Amino acid sequence: IVRYNKVTKYFDDLQVLDEIDFEIKQGEKVALIGPSGSGKTTFARLLMTLEEITDGTIEVEGDYLWHEEDENGELKPASTEHQRKVRSNIGMVFQHFHLFPHMTVLENVIEAPVTVQGRDKDEATKAGKEMLDKVGLLDKADTYPAQLSGGQKQRVAIARALVMKPKVLIFDEPTSALDPELVGEVLDVIKSIADEGETSMLLISHEMDFAREVADRICFFADGKIVEDGPPEEILFNPKSDRLKEFLERFM
Ligand code: ATP
Repeated sequence: IVRYNKVTKYFDDLQVLDEIDFEIKQGEKVALIGPSGSGKTTFARLLMTLEEITDGTIEVEGDYLWHEEDENGELKPASTEHQRKVRSNIGMVFQHFHLFPHMTVLENVIEAPVTVQGRDKDEATKAGKEMLDKVGLLDKADTYPAQLSGGQKQRVAIARALVMKPKVLIFDEPTSALDPELVGEVLDVIKSIADEGETSMLLISHEMDFAREVADRICFFADGKIVEDGPPEEILFNPKSDRLKEFLERFM
């Protein structure tokens, strides 16, 4: 459903991603691990068009995210309109929730479906309530984010992403801003979405046990490359490269 083709990213002179090839299939769950600064977040933000690609292409369901073909089949930079359409398949949950403080929980969840997707307000409200129910927070629909715990805020952020019906959902360290006792409730929600099966997931996380439980594959990032890519058991218990061995010794 998503294919990266020789994707390169520079911030000024700093090369963060170096000709990365990567693929994620419909329904597949892929965890991204690696040292701080290895480019995992940048890699994911490119798919959300939150960073500009420097070189290479990304395809989502066969459409280029950053390019369009002209009448001669040559690639040119994508128009905003084209990019918006392709990106609508992607949802993202951030480390720091990013909820609107002046809106209720339900208003937060239905804001984008109504204003971005142009959906009918009654339909969006119904869908929003369904998603809040899914993350166990229907009873909080009319409260404001400030009245919620960190774990609850993150579950609202997940409901808000789900209501857009993305085909691919990115989680960027969804539990690393939470107090330890609130991590479990968020991981449980992510696990239940994973178990439903149809949504593809990209999960950036330092929770190795969780990655092992949820992911079909783990990709290990280092120095702007995917150094190893394979089933969790292989990556975590039979690492091949010294880089991954060193990394795991520190984390497990
Ligand atoms: P972490 O686990 O700490 O989140 P990461 O693997 O996700 O790390 P990135 O956040 O993608 O790594 O960062 C990769 C490199 O790019 C880092 O050196 C970072 O400082 C740099 N970087 C990220 N965003 C920007 C930016 N907007 N401008 C300049 N440099 C940036």
